[in-house]
Amino acid sequence: MNKIDIHGVKIHNVTMREAVQLIQDWVEEDGSVPRAVYTPNSEIIMQAQRNLEFKNILNAAELLVADGAGVILASRILKTPLKEKVSGIDLVKNLFKVFSGKNVSFYILGGQPGVAEMAAVNIIAEYKKIKIAGYDHGYFKPEEESDVVQKINSAEPDIVLVGLGAPKQEIWINSNMYRLNCKVLIGVGGSIDVFAGKVSLTPEFIRKAGFEWLHRLIREPRRIKRMMDLPRFMVLTFKKRFLKKAR
Ligand code: UDP
Repeated sequence: MNKIDIHGVKIHNVTMREAVQLIQDWVEEDGSVPRAVYTPNSEIIMQAQRNLEFKNILNAAELLVADGAGVILASRILKTPLKEKVSGIDLVKNLFKVFSGKNVSFYILGGQPGVAEMAAVNIIAEYKKIKIAGYDHGYFKPEEESDVVQKINSAEPDIVLVGLGAPKQEIWINSNMYRLNCKVLIGVGGSIDVFAGKVSLTPEFIRKAGFEWLHRLIREPRRIKRMMDLPRFMVLTFKKRFLKKAR
């Protein structure tokens, strides 16, 4: 699979349709080992600059897709354009559509107590024939981790959606995936909150215009510190482009 290097994070150059197809193929494959899917945005790519272990975990994923207009813009500035944005929430929605009525089940892990359950109720209401094998909140203690794994395994899901925020969810997936009986694990960030109706999704026209960050900042001002990574990401991108030219 063709990968595009964005500041050391190797993103797969796939369309939404191709990403969904890949996951479908993996779910249908018998006896496969679990596969990890992450959806880095520019903030996550900046976190990976400061945390080499996190960068390695991202790059070890079976599928890394570009979540956010910033990553797409950077790929164009670096003259290695990615085909399109494949955001985590849209990917999950497409998987719900594709697997509704099929013998494929999802497990929802993450969010405050009660939120995953609320998300499950809303998902079933919207995607009528979807199979939700189980759910759990994401505020468990390290000593409860085995129970969390056990609960997932007894639910026997095909796909586990893990929304613990980055980098926690990627680290959790990376260290637990091989003791989980499932086909695919996806790091979904705050998507469980969105499905639960706890936070609203940024309208499509704002996302298309590349202003999702502004919408999220107005909604959650506590994100300001984290969002300082967005200008840093663009500065790093321009520096790389300039240095490339100078060589
Ligand atoms: N979360 C969790 N356990 C934790 C920390 C966070 O389940 O220990 C959840 C939190 O409730 C929220 C999500 O992880 O649902 C993080 O959302 P955020 O928007 O901060 O993550 P991002 O999408 O930016 O990675």
